[in-house]
Amino acid sequence: MLQTINQLVTTTPLDKLEIKVLLRHVLKLTQAELIMYSDRILSESEISQFNQLVEQRLLGFPIHYILGYREFYSRQFIVTRDTLIPRPETELLVSEVLQLIPRDISNIKLLDLGTGSGCIAISCKLEASNIEVVAVDKYMATLDIARKNASKLGACITFIQSDWYEKINGKFNLIVSNPPYIASGDAHLAQLKYEPEHALTDFSDGLLYFHQIISGAQRHLLAKGYLILEHGFDQALAIKKLLANGGFTNIKTIRDYAMLERVTIAQYENGRNQD
Ligand code: GLN
Repeated sequence: MLQTINQLVTTTPLDKLEIKVLLRHVLKLTQAELIMYSDRILSESEISQFNQLVEQRLLGFPIHYILGYREFYSRQFIVTRDTLIPRPETELLVSEVLQLIPRDISNIKLLDLGTGSGCIAISCKLEASNIEVVAVDKYMATLDIARKNASKLGACITFIQSDWYEKINGKFNLIVSNPPYIASGDAHLAQLKYEPEHALTDFSDGLLYFHQIISGAQRHLLAKGYLILEHGFDQALAIKKLLANGGFTNIKTIRDYAMLERVTIAQYENGRNQD
């Protein structure tokens, strides 16, 4: 059956915004063109491509994996099933990191642990060009995507395949991480069945990697360096305790747009400036 853009927008059993995004994706149209050509009839192959995507979407496949990108901090990042899809909350982490970077000093060193699509490392580098950024991930396939994003967006970053600090030498002014922090067995995890499980959960109580990141930060932070962590809405207290026991001071937690405790920042007083 011949169908126009307009007819598909009205009859497809999906959210209107998503239908339009999928139609634009299949027909390679801008938002304005989609409106302008609303009477355009789709070819048979366009219809079958569109229907296939609608079917995937109805099964719960994330729209950003279908599109192949996700907007983060006003830029488009390539996402595949090797990467987590960046969350809007993580933009908060980036803006907190940026506030801690002195703009009048060069050679500020930032380490991003578990970079995924590279969205944190790349956004920080593009917003604060005076920093040197090292980004690590445990998985080569994931690092390949982060590298692609960095070169597409023009960010000069050193990528290293490393299990947290394993392959990291030297010290940094800032260490940042959005680690897998969902506890195994958490009901939320069951809903996130298309993203890499190892990017979401530590297969433990959700705090396992915070222990490792915090104790490693004591060896890898310069004096008065900062550790900035994204975490689950109910993990702030436990993380603050770990930080305080690890010699960190000036510990503060920031709430996200839903007013949930999401990012904790701490300063390391005892770091020495020499290796
Ligand atoms: N915030 C993500 C979620 O709840 C999880 C990301 C992570 O584990 N770092 O979907």
